[in-house]
Amino acid sequence: MVLTDKIGRTVSYLRLSVTDRCNLRCMYCVTKDFQFIPHPNILRYEEMLRLVNIAATMNISKLRLTGGEPFARKGFMNFISTVMDKHPQLDLRITTNGTLIEDLIPELKKIGVSRLNISLDTLDRETFKEVTGRDHLDDVLATISACLSAGIRIKVNAVAMKGINDKELGDFIHFAKENPIDMRFIEFMPMGDETKSDNMLWTADEILEQSREFARLIKIKVRPENHGPARMFAIEGGKGRLGLISPVSSHFCATCNRLRITSDGQLRTCLFSDKTYGLRDILRNPDLGDDDLKKVIAEATMDKPLGYHLLEQRSGSEGVCETQMSAIGG
Ligand code: SAM
Repeated sequence: MVLTDKIGRTVSYLRLSVTDRCNLRCMYCVTKDFQFIPHPNILRYEEMLRLVNIAATMNISKLRLTGGEPFARKGFMNFISTVMDKHPQLDLRITTNGTLIEDLIPELKKIGVSRLNISLDTLDRETFKEVTGRDHLDDVLATISACLSAGIRIKVNAVAMKGINDKELGDFIHFAKENPIDMRFIEFMPMGDETKSDNMLWTADEILEQSREFARLIKIKVRPENHGPARMFAIEGGKGRLGLISPVSSHFCATCNRLRITSDGQLRTCLFSDKTYGLRDILRNPDLGDDDLKKVIAEATMDKPLGYHLLEQRSGSEGVCETQMSAIGG
């Protein structure tokens, strides 16, 4: 079965959040009075595996495990290994803040993880504390080094924020020159009610323009399955590359191929929409089976919205949806 929507988009990419818990408190991702999902509502790994099994029969070929911080959940290594064993054909990716895993890199490599996305918004210790509420910059840098030594390919993702990390553009480009990484900037998205702030938007085009002060960039063609909507540039004389992702200034809804499932089993068909489809109750109902889950997933996909309409419709500096990113998984 192939998942398609009303306007002919095909869905082949699932982002599964394994937890809403995180050891960081990033300013754009989580608010102070954020209520964690109660434990009984969080899907067990067996339930998540069942969803992955079902997704694999519905033409999902790429799976990203995210969070919260996925490595903060007990048993996550085991879960990765189980998914990889059961679905060797799936293109499995993981997104992490990189603070908890320096010592796990050899094991990750051993179980077959060959690439990681690591979020890092700043190379400055004080700014790191300001953005994340924690003092873990050295841990993230150590993880990146450990991955590079182990031959795990790294994409470093920074949320581009005017007034916060724009002054570090030269340092980031230097970092990407010195290391064989993809250094990608993703535009700040006004998600969740209190995490919004429109004047933080530092657009991909502005970044590109300003980057030319620090390096000669050469546009490269990339395979969309590896870089999604990122525009990628080689850095002349450098080991790494620069990437720009512009969900706000230049949306890519027309080619969006994603579904998301939150750690409490809510299916979301668009990052910018609050509409959810509950899968947990179906999973836990002994009278319902995989076909019932498939039916909901297929019907929900059919109605997948165009997120940029939702962005346009919001007024003033409102958040685009009420759920903050820590609960969705990015
Ligand atoms: N804890 C993991 C991490 O830090 O990568 C995974 C979860 S995190 C929610 C996934 C991604 O969403 C991160 O790269 C994060 O920077 C990004 N993100 C969260 N809130 C965002 C926002 N308001 N705008 C743009 N990106 C955001």
